[in-house]
Amino acid sequence: MLNVTQNVNLAPYNTFGVSEYAHWFTRINNPQQIKELVNHPVFAAKPHLILGGGSNILFTRSFEGLVIKVDIKGIEKIREDANHVWLKVGAGENWHSLVMHCVTASYGGIENLALIPGTAGAAPVQNIGAYGVELAEVLEEVQGFNLADGTQLNLSNNECRFGYRDSIFKQELKGKFFISSITLRLTVGRHQLRTSYGTLADTLIAMGVNQPTLYHVSQAVIRIRTSKLPDPARTGNAGSFFKNPVISGKQYRELKEIHPKIPGFIVDNQGVKIPAAWLIEQCGWKGKRIGNAGVHEHQPLVLVNLGGASGQEILKLAEEVRHSVAEKFNIDLTPEVNII
Ligand SMILES: Cc1cc2nc3c(=O)[nH]c(=O)nc-3n(C[C@H](O)[C@H](O)[C@H](O)COP(=O)(O)OP(=O)(O)OC[C@H]3O[C@@H](n4cnc5c(N)ncnc54)[C@H](O)[C@@H]3O)c2cc1C
Repeated sequence: MLNVTQNVNLAPYNTFGVSEYAHWFTRINNPQQIKELVNHPVFAAKPHLILGGGSNILFTRSFEGLVIKVDIKGIEKIREDANHVWLKVGAGENWHSLVMHCVTASYGGIENLALIPGTAGAAPVQNIGAYGVELAEVLEEVQGFNLADGTQLNLSNNECRFGYRDSIFKQELKGKFFISSITLRLTVGRHQLRTSYGTLADTLIAMGVNQPTLYHVSQAVIRIRTSKLPDPARTGNAGSFFKNPVISGKQYRELKEIHPKIPGFIVDNQGVKIPAAWLIEQCGWKGKRIGNAGVHEHQPLVLVNLGGASGQEILKLAEEVRHSVAEKFNIDLTPEVNII
């Protein structure tokens, strides 16, 4: 039976470590509970929020509704052929543990996504990506439930409408669809390692690796990430707070005249992607703080809880950063983090 509790402090359930309350709180351990959930009087009467690991959420107030914590576990090999294996993964599985499980089993495709916090079920929501790889490249299908009536629905990769840190789950299906599991198609044997992105190649060389394996790639990613990103267990944060903005070629050329060092990467048919971290640093925010909220000293795209910050304090800092970037560069930063 569904156990719905009241007035639960969400501090342990979000990586910013912000102390806000959920008026109602429940856990879903298996897909059979969804029918019960949609028929529950609190679900029917109040707003709801699906919560994975809380590593991409900023609570700015108490949630006056039902927080649904996803705890569905299980990793199952459902199919294999000579080149691939298909894994069905419960939405509540820890993403990094899944990556290491695959590396150990010699299943290739997600090793570059090591050490991203959170759950497998949230991975399609913003199409997680790092070091030249996005989830969309290995995701076969998303299984879940329409929360309007509890009916089961599977979405193919195409139907998920993946984009840069975007999917149908952040758009039309936001809050309306409960992801219960995902199916990944991974390589066995002939892996296609991606080692050219960013500092990955240099790190592998520094590690003395000439012929990298899945394991080496995952270890190199872990090494880079631990050296530059704050550990949420010590310093509250939600990774990149903003998306990297994509602007038109025309705007980029105009900005380049005024700021000759502005970096930019051409994105197919879309424009030029600018590193938001560079923009924020140019506005003088790196290492700055307002009250208990700060901009990380090494990675200005990451906002941090320096101890006891409220969600409102972090939001205020984010708004000031956004305002400075808009004033100096005429670029509007979009938050990557879900603000509640
Ligand atoms: C230190 C750090 C580094 C990070 N690095 C990266 C990175 O390199 N790349 C990257 O892409 N992200 C990164 N992130 C962001 C974050 O880890 C990912 O977005 C992750 O997928 C969020 O998972 P979660 O379970 O914590 O989701 P939550 O924060 O709990 O939820 C995120 C969103 O997904 C929804 N959601 C969660 N589970 C479900 C479900 N089962 N069904 C439907 N909706 C659901 C929630 O309602 C919410 O809107 C980083 C975060 C941190 C703290």
